[in-house]
Amino acid sequence: MPEPSYILSERPAPRVARLVLNRPEKRNAQNTALLYELDRAFLEATEDESVSVVILAAAGPHFSSGHDLGEADPLDRSAAHPTATGWRAVSGSLAERILARERDLYLGLSERWRVLPKPTIAQVQGKCIAGGLMLAWPCDLIVASEDAEFQDPTVLMGMPGCELFDHPREIGPRRAKEWLFTASTLTARQAFDLGMVNRVVPRESLENETLALASAIAAKPLLALRLIKESVNAAVDAQGRAGALQTAFSHHQLAHAHNLQAHGMAVDPAGFPAQVRRP
Ligand code: ZN
Repeated sequence: MPEPSYILSERPAPRVARLVLNRPEKRNAQNTALLYELDRAFLEATEDESVSVVILAAAGPHFSSGHDLGEADPLDRSAAHPTATGWRAVSGSLAERILARERDLYLGLSERWRVLPKPTIAQVQGKCIAGGLMLAWPCDLIVASEDAEFQDPTVLMGMPGCELFDHPREIGPRRAKEWLFTASTLTARQAFDLGMVNRVVPRESLENETLALASAIAAKPLLALRLIKESVNAAVDAQGRAGALQTAFSHHQLAHAHNLQAHGMAVDPAGFPAQVRRP
């Protein structure tokens, strides 16, 4: 059996790489294999000296429906991955295994992608839900089509937001509270007005507009681009991002542990999508 290829790696223009989430039949839901494939593809593009800018795109009508809650055994971390972040627990309590998996696979990878030393652009259409945000937000820029929708409905499952808690910095604290309290959806235009999205374009021109932006950036001196990225990230970090992110991640793990005790599973089954609800 050939290894499944969840990620297409393309070179659509000089000095531009495009990584495409290629699981459209599952709305690009993120299973373990997809995330590690994406990690490898990001690192390969970063190390490719012919590339200056990396686009993260998605096949099909939706960018990503989030983490694959129906994965056969999401806690199975036995498969080797050469670029894992060092958090591994394939035994131990369920709470410990969930912590290890989410620290490595979710928070760990998103945080590593945020600091890749080349500009990155997320190209978002359709739904971008919960874990989907953890692919788009680590990118430096976000170009969205008019039909794009952003949502983190994890409160319905007794959870205080996805593992990468950048919501207050992305849309401001008061709007972030309302968005999370109500599990509501932000349209592309709302996300643009709040500063989360750089450009909103018609669906049919999303690919071309994103590529044109990438090419314009890729024509600039790469070292200057790297230093701009690091300087902006440093400005955000200086506002205490790392500590806030860690507090929220700890709260997230507390909620998983609570749900394990209260419901026998890591999330409240009342809000769990019916198609993957377990008996
Ligand atoms: Zn979680």
